[in-house]
Amino acid sequence: MKLNALNKMTEHFEDTKPMPVLFLGHGNPMNAIDDNEFSKGWADMAKTIAKPTAILCVSAHWETNGTYITAMDKPETIHDFGGFPQKLFDFQYPAPGDAELAKETQKTITKATVGLNTDWGLDHGCWSVVSRMYPAADIPVIQLSLDYSKPAQWHFELAKELAFLRKKGVLIVGSGNIVHNLGLVNWKDDKTFDWAIEANDTVKKFINANDFASLEKYDTLGKSLQLAVPTPEHYLPLLYTLALKDDKETLSFFNDKLVMGSISMTSLKIGA
Ligand code: ZN
Repeated sequence: MKLNALNKMTEHFEDTKPMPVLFLGHGNPMNAIDDNEFSKGWADMAKTIAKPTAILCVSAHWETNGTYITAMDKPETIHDFGGFPQKLFDFQYPAPGDAELAKETQKTITKATVGLNTDWGLDHGCWSVVSRMYPAADIPVIQLSLDYSKPAQWHFELAKELAFLRKKGVLIVGSGNIVHNLGLVNWKDDKTFDWAIEANDTVKKFINANDFASLEKYDTLGKSLQLAVPTPEHYLPLLYTLALKDDKETLSFFNDKLVMGSISMTSLKIGA
């Protein structure tokens, strides 16, 4: 048997046409159980995409020292928040994991030494959006962590190494928020702050210009971006998504709206 044929047999999934890549602004965890324009936007988006073989999620809510990938058969639904109704804590998303896919991804990434994780699961940055897209929970889901010790440029480079998954039918989902400042939430009247609108527009402008190098330096883009991204974890998943865009691929925005004064739900799809 020829070596490449052998390699083909040992690969986890057959080759497919490249899957789209998503960035989803997740916002309030209640979006997992409340029917609203955002949960509808995610569900409608899923209908435009061929059913994935698996989902790899890069969530704002899994920050680690070093890079890890979940590799358990049955990831638990992690309720990593406080102060929400019991029905949200009761919510379960019993999608399987995929240890083989995790190992294949681990082997492919050279930018970091990726550790296999068996005690995380799925955090709400992942399940609050993926459950609305695929409520049957019949698609394996794995998560890749965010190494909090690394700069934005490093994350962008690492993300490029995930491109092979797109050709294996895997849907890569970055889950965060472009504008995310919980300290400045407008509890008074829900009016969106001018700086939040400006920051969201600025980021979209750079995305539309394919100028991702500028977006890696978000902390140099002025006061509005500094307020929009007070800490990097909700912004970095956007860079993971953008890093996977080929120059000629289409890109479209959806759920492009700001809420609570200082959070943008703006989401995007790369590819068709
Ligand atoms: Zn969040």
